[in-house]
Amino acid sequence: MEQNLVKVILKSGKDASLKRWHPWVFSGAIKKCRNQEGREVTPADGDLVYVTTNNDDFLGVGHYQDGSIAVRIISFQDEIINHDFWKNKIVTAYELRKILGLTHNANTNMYRLVHAEGDGLPGLIIDFYNGTAVIQSHSVGMHYSKNSIVEALKDVYGKDLVAVYDKSADTLPKYSDIVVENQYLYQNGEVALTAKEHDCLYKIDWLEGQKTGFFIDQRENRALLGKYAEGKNILNTFCYTGGFSVVALKNKATLVHSVDASKRAIDLTDENVKINGLEKNHASFAMDTFKFFEQSDASIYDIIVLDPPAFAKHQNVKHNAVQGYKRLNATAMQHIKPGGIIFTFSCSQVVDDQLFYNTIMSAAIQVGRTVRVLHRLSQPADHPANIFHPESHYLKGLVIQVL
Ligand code: SAH
Repeated sequence: MEQNLVKVILKSGKDASLKRWHPWVFSGAIKKCRNQEGREVTPADGDLVYVTTNNDDFLGVGHYQDGSIAVRIISFQDEIINHDFWKNKIVTAYELRKILGLTHNANTNMYRLVHAEGDGLPGLIIDFYNGTAVIQSHSVGMHYSKNSIVEALKDVYGKDLVAVYDKSADTLPKYSDIVVENQYLYQNGEVALTAKEHDCLYKIDWLEGQKTGFFIDQRENRALLGKYAEGKNILNTFCYTGGFSVVALKNKATLVHSVDASKRAIDLTDENVKINGLEKNHASFAMDTFKFFEQSDASIYDIIVLDPPAFAKHQNVKHNAVQGYKRLNATAMQHIKPGGIIFTFSCSQVVDDQLFYNTIMSAAIQVGRTVRVLHRLSQPADHPANIFHPESHYLKGLVIQVL
C-alpha cells in the first residue's frame, strides 16, 4: 500500500460483497480504522482510505463518509489516486461512449459520460451537453476530487471541451457541513446553450433546471416514440422540458399535448417546441396530471406517455409509490381509446422490474381492459449498470397496448 492512508478494517466475514466488486462498505461492516502508525482514528468525510479484510488483505481504495454507506470504492487495485488515475477513468468512460457512437454524432451531441457506480466512480455523475460537461457529486470525496476531474476532462476532450459546470449544491448529503455553490469550474469560449438529440434541438438549462438540465436517460425511449408518432394524437404527461413532445412532433404526430405541474417546465417545453419550428400541432398545460385526466377527454389520444418523477426514493415508501403508479396507470388505461398505446415509466430504484410489471398488471386488472406488452424498456447504454451493484439499474418502462 503505497499511499499514506487510513486503513478501514472490516469485520471478519464482512468482505464478501467487496470481493464480488460491489463498491459500497456499510458502516456496520467496519471493525475499526487505523492510521499508518497503528493508532485508532475516525477518518474525515471525503478522506481517501484503504479498505482491508480483518487479516490485512487489501480490498480497495475509496472515499470515506460518515453514514450508512461509509466507503465508496473507486479502485479495487492498490494504486495511487493521482492525475493518471482520474485520466484513465475518464478515458475509459469516454471510450465506451465512443463505441456507442455518441462522441462524434451529427444528430446527437449530448450523453452521459460518467454514470457513478456503472463507470466505477461511485458518487459522480457527468453529463456532456454539446461542449459543456455538467458535474454532480453525491459524495464529499468526489467533491474534493473535482480539480483532478476537471483536469482529466480537459486532457480527454482537448478543444472539444468548452466548459465544466459544477451543479452539486443540492446533491451532497444534507448532513455534511460542506457548502458548495453551483458554478463554472472551467470555461474556454462561448458556451452553447442548446444541444441535439436525434436531430431535435433542446435548450439545456443546467443553471436552473432539474438534475443536470435534461433527462438524457430517456434518449432511446424517445426514439421509439418517434417511430410510433406519425399521424397520432399524443399526450405527454410529466413532460418537463418536452423531450417526448418534440420527438413526436418532429416525427409528424398530428397533435401533441404536453402536461406538467410546473409552469417553468411548460415554458421550457414551449420554447423547445418553438426552436424546432413545431408549434403548429402542439398545446401545453401547466397542470397536475391527475387533474388533467379528470378535466379532459383522454379518449382522443392514440398514445399516452407517463413519465413521473420517482414516487419512491426509499424502501419505506415503496408501498405508497406502488399505489401511485397503479393509480396513474389505471387512470390512463381507463381513458385511452381502444387500441391506444401507453409508454409508462418508473425511475424509482426501489421498485424493481418485476414489481413495476406486476403493478401495471394490477392496474389492468382493476380497469378490466385487455393489455398487451409491446416493449420492455430500460436506461440507455451510456447509463450502464454495474452487474455487481443492482442499485445502478433504475429506469424501467413498458410500452403497452390497451384493447
Ligand atoms: N419526461 C421528462 C422527465 C420527467 S421529470 C423528460 O423526458 O425529460 C418529472 C416531471 O414531472 C417534472 O418536470 C415535474 O415538474 C413533473 N411533475 C411532478 N409531479 C407532477 C404532477 N402531479 N403532475 C404533472 N407533473 C408533475
